[in-house]
Amino acid sequence: MAEMIKVCLAGDTGVGKTSIVKHFLGDPTGYKFARPTIAVEANPSVQIQSSEGKLVNLSIWDTAGQEEFRNLVPLYFRNASVCIVVASYDKYDSFQSVGDWQDIIFQTCTTCKLILVANKCDLTPSNGITEDFISDKGRSIAALEVFKTSAVTGEGIKDLFQYIVDCKDIEADQNFLTGLKDEDKEQLNIAQEPNRDNKNCC
Ligand code: GDP
Ligand code: MG
Repeated sequence: MAEMIKVCLAGDTGVGKTSIVKHFLGDPTGYKFARPTIAVEANPSVQIQSSEGKLVNLSIWDTAGQEEFRNLVPLYFRNASVCIVVASYDKYDSFQSVGDWQDIIFQTCTTCKLILVANKCDLTPSNGITEDFISDKGRSIAALEVFKTSAVTGEGIKDLFQYIVDCKDIEADQNFLTGLKDEDKEQLNIAQEPNRDNKNCC
């Protein structure tokens, strides 16, 4: 069975978390979609080939707006292998929140690796957001890597997920697939898998 890596997204509301995931999952080339697996019906799972040719399943956990109140339930991050902490070039405050997100993640998942993503690189950066500032933020949360992305142009998005499957420091953990009860799923209220048949769906 292919390895399964649970990938969570965190970051202030509006920074582009959902757009990054949608852009990645909508990519017509190279990625083979797998049906969601048991206990993670609400999450899209996607199979990617590592640079060494190994097949890796990513279970991607996006939020459905709960992050606005920072009340993501602990289950959300449980047994995540990696968490993508997203901030946005047009919002200085979203970078100031990165440390808070690190704290929230580590409350549940002490072994979770972090990646910092500076999204909306297609926009003019707000005052104070320089390359050095972003690298410093990455270091401040001990991020394995920092990526610059745009869900509009697609810049950096494939590289981000390819890095996750190739990175030796990110270990697969099947445990999150077991032990999720119905009430857990209800509590999570995570984003539904995008319905590809219904283009007009909100
Ligand atoms: P979330 O709350 O973090 O999930 O953010 P969303 O993905 O819902 O995006 C919030 C808004 O930012 C939407 O209007 C998106 O169209 C826009 N957006 C997301 N990513 C980008 C990007 O890379 N560049 C630009 N210019 N806009 C983006
Ligand atoms: Mg969202």
